[in-house]
Amino acid sequence: MKNSINPPNSNFFRLLSICAVAILLISACKPEPEPEPEDPCMEAILTGEWGYDDFGGPACWNSVCNHGQTCGGTSQSPINVTGWVEKTNLPSLSTNPGQTSMNIVNNGHTLQFNMQPGSFATYGTTTNGLFDDFTLGQFHFHTNSEHQVNGSYAPMEVHFVHRSIWDDRYMVISVMIEEGDANPLLERFVDKLPVSEMAGPYVNKDSVFSAYDLLPANRSYYTYAGSLTTPPCSETVNWIIMENKIQASQAQLDKFKSILGENFRPVQELGSREIGYVKL
Ligand SMILES: [Zn+2]
Repeated sequence: MKNSINPPNSNFFRLLSICAVAILLISACKPEPEPEPEDPCMEAILTGEWGYDDFGGPACWNSVCNHGQTCGGTSQSPINVTGWVEKTNLPSLSTNPGQTSMNIVNNGHTLQFNMQPGSFATYGTTTNGLFDDFTLGQFHFHTNSEHQVNGSYAPMEVHFVHRSIWDDRYMVISVMIEEGDANPLLERFVDKLPVSEMAGPYVNKDSVFSAYDLLPANRSYYTYAGSLTTPPCSETVNWIIMENKIQASQAQLDKFKSILGENFRPVQELGSREIGYVKL
């Protein structure tokens, strides 16, 4: 009897390998299940971190700051400044520059100039007849502007964040910055700006520094009741928005923009709030 070259079960193994290949081919052709859409707010909720891009951006802020404060309230900022009502019974703003030092921090959300105590603004009087003084804690920048005026953005906006010396009220003075002549105050610091959150602060040892030099000469202003424009979006801010813009050169604006990207919150509904206008 002639011996078979193949072992008796070779057909079985051949069949098995064909089946294995077929199974592989079928499974390779099977469409992958659709990945679950990632919740863009999940990371923000888990970490408490927020930002301005698709993940953890402004649409998520109410999820981030749901611990008693709300970014979904009815008196939020920024807004489109339009339809104002001229007022003659509101105080003018006076500023009292301190000869203080400051440092510049990149906190991942903005470039913030932290002031030593000494600079303050006075906005009328309290109900007790005392000067209503607000200490300037810091000022910082947004590219482009957060507020609109008659529907238009400026390329940059600076916010001077003040806190009442009497209570928890905030007053934020806002100035729009448009493209034009180089700004001499910004020029002193434009090459000192920390380019990322990782970069350490720049400490300014120059004691003769007045942040209020960034305000326009004419201080006509718009005002309304609003909020911080970042989490926790507290609705405790009296906004004072200078009608007159200041200028910075295109190179200065480009430098800030290259570091900040787009760090502006979209405009919020005005609702039943009124915008006052004080002409000086
Ligand atoms: Zn701001």
